[in-house]
Amino acid sequence: MRKPVLAGNWKMNKTVAEAVALVAAMKDELGQLSSVERVLCPPFMAIPEVARLVAGTGVGVGAQDMYWKDGGAFTGEISPLMVKEFCSHVIIGHSERREHFGESDESVNLKLKAALAHGLFPIVCVGETLALRQEGRTEAWVAGQVKAALAGLSAEQVGRVVIAYEPIWAIGTGLAATAAEAQRVCKEVVRATVAELYGPAVAQGMRIQYGGSVTPANAPELMAQPDIDGALVGGASLKAADFVAIVRAAVQAK
Ligand code: PEP
Repeated sequence: MRKPVLAGNWKMNKTVAEAVALVAAMKDELGQLSSVERVLCPPFMAIPEVARLVAGTGVGVGAQDMYWKDGGAFTGEISPLMVKEFCSHVIIGHSERREHFGESDESVNLKLKAALAHGLFPIVCVGETLALRQEGRTEAWVAGQVKAALAGLSAEQVGRVVIAYEPIWAIGTGLAATAAEAQRVCKEVVRATVAELYGPAVAQGMRIQYGGSVTPANAPELMAQPDIDGALVGGASLKAADFVAIVRAAVQAK
């Protein structure tokens, strides 16, 4: 049985004071929904305060990115040692970082290895653009991203990795993939690629999230899909009631 994982990616939103208010509005309810894994990924500035507030609730904290080196002359970066002081999880290779900040398949792989070496649970994002989708290249693109991200990892390491399938055309657009399409890619592309690389047992154990305009309205159908093991939620994770409703939908569907 795969425990679903629901992560809220706050992106570059919320000051520390706003983050405190958001956590206060949902931490009791999130704390009760313990049959699924719940993770909040605030901006770096708010991480220590959010970690302090959720301590003891069972809700985890994740970073939205990190560098792969432990320390040194890398102005502006955050190291795995700093992340793991407060976080259990780290998002790696979000499409916004790939698009705006030069994140490459190679840096994703280095960050993934660093996260695993430091005992963090990585959430690795993959997904195709609208153009790739229209050209019929979704499958090859997503499989290629999965292979590049996991290059050089052992089966044991892969067991700790969560992959988030996030079609870029669905992120922040209000146009979520249909449940059938999300299920198809999660199963026939992401899980099948992991099976090709590591065999069926590792693939069956891997948790695969869907991300892209998940809302309380579409979460019940998405979370009911057999190969979707939770969600990476952007916009809706900024509203306490919406994020709680999405987590609740996963609890009820699984
Ligand atoms: C995301 O940030 O990963 C995301 C899926 O955003 P949204 O839910 O707003 O589409």
